Amino acid sequence: MKDCLFCRLAAGAGGPLLWENEDLSVFADINPAAKVHWLIVPKAHYENIIDLCSTEEGCELFRRFGEALPEIVAQAGLTESGFRLIVNCGRDGRQTVGHLHFHLLGGERLGVHV
Ligand code: AMP
Ligand code: ZN
Repeated sequence: MKDCLFCRLAAGAGGPLLWENEDLSVFADINPAAKVHWLIVPKAHYENIIDLCSTEEGCELFRRFGEALPEIVAQAGLTESGFRLIVNCGRDGRQTVGHLHFHLLGGERLGVHV
């Protein structure tokens, strides 16, 4: 999608990615909320999680995201220590970037949310 920051970053325009495969790109959050704060971003443009899960193709991509997750978590060094995976959606969910992304947070004991 034209003029989408995360489309550009997922394509590698921001520099080397931390992890990638055919479907997904991973890069560090510019404003980390924890010692490890990675963003897992589909290369294809979906606005949010509902947009993703509203098509068969998107659901299939979500399944492949699940398949890739253990490898990404291992790459982040969080397999043993644990982590939090967050997806924000819409106004009340405080989504600020209109290209679906999953926050992977860890590397320290996280606070109790929200
Ligand atoms: P959300 O509020 O769920 O939409 O999260 C958007 C996230 O994107 C925030 O945690 C921002 O810090 C992060 N972010 C915004 N711009 C950039 C950027 N250029 N590179 C990396 N992360 C970014
Ligand atoms: Zn996009």
